[in-house]
Amino acid sequence: MAIIRCPECEREVSDEASTCPNCGAPLNKKNDRAMSEMPENHMVWAIVTTVCCCLPFGIMSIIQASKVSGYWENGEYDEAMEASEKAKKYALIGTVVGALIIIVRTAMEIVARR
Ligand SMILES: [Zn+2]
Repeated sequence: MAIIRCPECEREVSDEASTCPNCGAPLNKKNDRAMSEMPENHMVWAIVTTVCCCLPFGIMSIIQASKVSGYWENGEYDEAMEASEKAKKYALIGTVVGALIIIVRTAMEIVARR
């Protein structure tokens, strides 16, 4: 437990309190974030990446994407945000690698025809 300063009345209060006992201002950051939207899990992009582009990165992306809602429901907001970011990153890498493979294959076919 730590002592923080209330942003409203600037009196010292416990960081465990969800509201300031002096002025009633909300203090608990987790309560604030619970009100906000769950981060995007990028599941659709992850599946598209797996099917169309690059299987290994697509699967890594799906694994991260599937963790987002679980973390969020358990109140592990930082982990949920992190999983969301990783899902996006792997899907992006998968898309880029998949696109490069298609370009290289196409180029090799053009060369082979000559
Ligand atoms: Zn206060």
